[in-house]
Amino acid sequence: MSVTAAGAGLCLRGRAGGMLRCFGLTNSLEAGLGLGERALDVLRGFGLAKELEAVSLPMGTEVNLLANPRGRPVELHRDELYKHRSLHWSDLHRMLIDALPRGTVRFGHTVAGIEQPGGDAVVVTASIAAPRGAKVPEGDFQAGEADPGAREPRMEEFRGDLAVAADGQMSATRRRNVPAGDSRRYSGYCAWREAPAEAAAARAAYPELGRALYFELSDARTHAVLYDLPGQRLNWLWYVNQPEPPLKSHSVTVKADEGKIADMYARAAETFSPALSALMRATQAPFINAIFDREPLQRWAFGRCVLVGEAAHPTTPHGLRSTNMAIEDAGGLAAALAAHPRDLEAALAAFQRTRIPDTTREAYLGNA
Ligand SMILES: Cc1cc2nc3c(=O)[nH]c(=O)nc-3n(C[C@H](O)[C@H](O)[C@H](O)COP(=O)(O)OP(=O)(O)OC[C@H]3O[C@@H](n4cnc5c(N)ncnc54)[C@H](O)[C@@H]3O)c2cc1C
Repeated sequence: MSVTAAGAGLCLRGRAGGMLRCFGLTNSLEAGLGLGERALDVLRGFGLAKELEAVSLPMGTEVNLLANPRGRPVELHRDELYKHRSLHWSDLHRMLIDALPRGTVRFGHTVAGIEQPGGDAVVVTASIAAPRGAKVPEGDFQAGEADPGAREPRMEEFRGDLAVAADGQMSATRRRNVPAGDSRRYSGYCAWREAPAEAAAARAAYPELGRALYFELSDARTHAVLYDLPGQRLNWLWYVNQPEPPLKSHSVTVKADEGKIADMYARAAETFSPALSALMRATQAPFINAIFDREPLQRWAFGRCVLVGEAAHPTTPHGLRSTNMAIEDAGGLAAALAAHPRDLEAALAAFQRTRIPDTTREAYLGNA
């Protein structure tokens, strides 16, 4: 079977044999990520147990603290069976890319269309040029495929048995296939975030960093998340209720100016315990993600094209679930294709039967 994936956010390793191509725009992801047991098991099942161990840290405990701006936070609850691991997004991507034959993942390719001309084929059209400003990692761009001096990007067609649309929460493939009324919903809050370099004071105040995930909950109806990442980086996020910020193009990331950052530092000092607000203050360039979701779909497969990941189920992130769900989709789709190697319709039906109820529940929980 020949599978073409739009969006290199995830890779379908362990598929039902045959050929795989993944197209993406960039691979410049600096933030941190927590993965739970089920997603970790999928990656281990892809033969990546050792690599995973090497690039991630254990987060075996979840600790919920009540924020105290005047001193130490108070412990409210702990879950010793949390069984997550933390890692850098870029390491996860690199690990997946390196596990595939060289050339499988092609950055600098923008999927422009997915056509189903009838019969047994799907045709993916990609323009071979990186979008302006995109940071395409050296070595991943297919040398000789694009002429940097060319006025028009070169278009190329790829024929296959199945197209997997992993093109994220603003998925053009979803827009083309799902009827009107499927607009994104602003959740009512944004996330401030960054992973500053080593901060000794925070480590002293949160002694389980490196093996635990901390939530600091404020009675001002807001909370922050703190955990350790490989390379001595502490990853923090602060979810803040606020009106929807103006966004440029499709990006949900907002660059904060100096005034906004100073205001955030001041509000953090009134909201969180001193060690956490000092860590936030020590962060040079915190940025903001606006948080959106969409009403869950009842169907992800459209003939020989299937949605996965955020394209299928954009979900609010504070349960640390959405990349986890995208990885579980990859595992579920690979298993369904392996179980029905000669019947794509049956494979996609089995995939949707197993994954849609699960992700729908998670999406509603994320809104609760
Ligand atoms: C603040 C915050 C914290 C989060 N923390 C966690 C966490 O700890 N754990 C967790 O599980 N999840 C977390 N998430 C969720 C996570 O960011 C997303 O769920 C995840 O990135 C979705 O993966 P994806 O591959 O489906 O989509 P994306 O990561 O959006 O990838 C889509 C890819 O498709 C490419 N693309 C788009 N259009 C095209 C095209 N036409 N042609 C080619 N390529 C295209 C894009 O360039 C991109 O690379 C968090 C999210 C936020 C905002």
